[in-house]
Amino acid sequence: MCKINEVVDFTFIHDLVRSSYCEYYGRPANEPELLFRLLFLQVLYNLSDERMIQEAQVNLAYKWFIGLNPEDTLPAPSQLSRFRNHRLGAAGVDEVLRSVVRQCIEKGLVKSKTIIMDSTHTLAASQKQKPLGVLRDAAKRLFRVVVKKHSKLEKKLPRMPVIKKEQENAEKVMLHYLAELGEAVETLIPDHEGSISEKLQIAKRIVEDERLLSQKGILSAIDPDARFGWKSYTKSFFGYKEHIAMTEEEIITAVEVTGGSSDDGKQFKELLSQTISTGIEVHEIIADTAYSGKDNLAEMKSKKIQPVVPLNPVVHNGGSRQEGFTYNKDADFVICPAGQNSVRKAVQGSKKSGDSRSLVFYFDIHKCTACPLKEGCLKPGAKNKTYSFRIMAEHYKEHIEFENSEVFQERIRRRPIIEHKNAELKRYHGLTRAKYRGLFRMQIQAILTAFTVNVKRMIKLQAKMEATSA
Ligand code: SF4
Repeated sequence: MCKINEVVDFTFIHDLVRSSYCEYYGRPANEPELLFRLLFLQVLYNLSDERMIQEAQVNLAYKWFIGLNPEDTLPAPSQLSRFRNHRLGAAGVDEVLRSVVRQCIEKGLVKSKTIIMDSTHTLAASQKQKPLGVLRDAAKRLFRVVVKKHSKLEKKLPRMPVIKKEQENAEKVMLHYLAELGEAVETLIPDHEGSISEKLQIAKRIVEDERLLSQKGILSAIDPDARFGWKSYTKSFFGYKEHIAMTEEEIITAVEVTGGSSDDGKQFKELLSQTISTGIEVHEIIADTAYSGKDNLAEMKSKKIQPVVPLNPVVHNGGSRQEGFTYNKDADFVICPAGQNSVRKAVQGSKKSGDSRSLVFYFDIHKCTACPLKEGCLKPGAKNKTYSFRIMAEHYKEHIEFENSEVFQERIRRRPIIEHKNAELKRYHGLTRAKYRGLFRMQIQAILTAFTVNVKRMIKLQAKMEATSA
């Protein structure tokens, strides 16, 4: 802990949260740094808010680290969550990560001009539900919060319908009720705010979600941002994805959190721009096939960045030409707008036919004929529903030649270090499961975790640097 204090400057946090405090009402001058140091220890040792405060109360090393005397008392656990969500969140938690990366650059700990990108997943803090459960829970939560704050309105709100066991149109009845309840709340409380606005917003998103009934959209009324995603062809998960960029020295430079169903390649530009904003010069990017999209390759070319990214015919041909169809690299299938995944694939055309070869993905025709979105997607009377990509080898000749070179083979071997980093984030610092609900809180958890592993890495790099200069 002594070493952390010596190497890392935590005072940046004062400037970062200044605007979220009132200048004229008293608070201890060291409060932001004390709370931020507590958040750091909490992630370092993977503790809950309550446990963190209990531990810090009796552990003198922790008290020394956060700047308290042995007899001093600690803030209440609720202050930790308030600081995390209202102070850090409001000030832009991304800046926390940028600050530590800048410190690494200033100390000469980051010299590489190579960035490695990858994604990992985190399970949601709530369980996924069936559509009826999502609708019922959203309605109950909205009804309850309105009655709690405006008890006189209880009789004016529409009553929850009684759904019989195995009732055929149960979901549609509940969907209609949720829409009706939302409209009633908006009419009765036009200036709603706080928790009523929050629950109303969730209810609206659920009602408007076209994929809800096919179980491919919102799957939890408590955590409507979490999504169903694929780790491989057979393994799925419910939660979030963290998209990460890291230097060769293993300092994380950018983190972007999305729902579990998102496409890794689409986060490329954001990760690159976050990395560049820290002051790092990027000359090379190492990543897997998911990042070999046409736009990503063009972006690297325009910025004179060498892509060490193996091509995937599906990804680099631009992925979704028809609105709503996306390719999932981990599972190697295409997901359609109704959330169905393709069931098999085949290559059409011989190798000699060059650009006219295609990779064709087939959907289950029985599901297509019963699909509510089939109009405009499935031709009347069609026996098959397919989605295809042209294999345009000629356009990527130069890249393919580079991919076969020794330099490429040598550089791509650096990619697994990001997988070890992902394992560290999950195994030791709690990123396996979300601690909080919602994308905003998940982003805070992911960035604080990245900050913490960066601090650990900084200490190691500093020690290495001192040893070599001694
Ligand atoms: S018709 Fe088939 S491919 Fe098209 S949206 Fe529906 S299920 Fe998906």
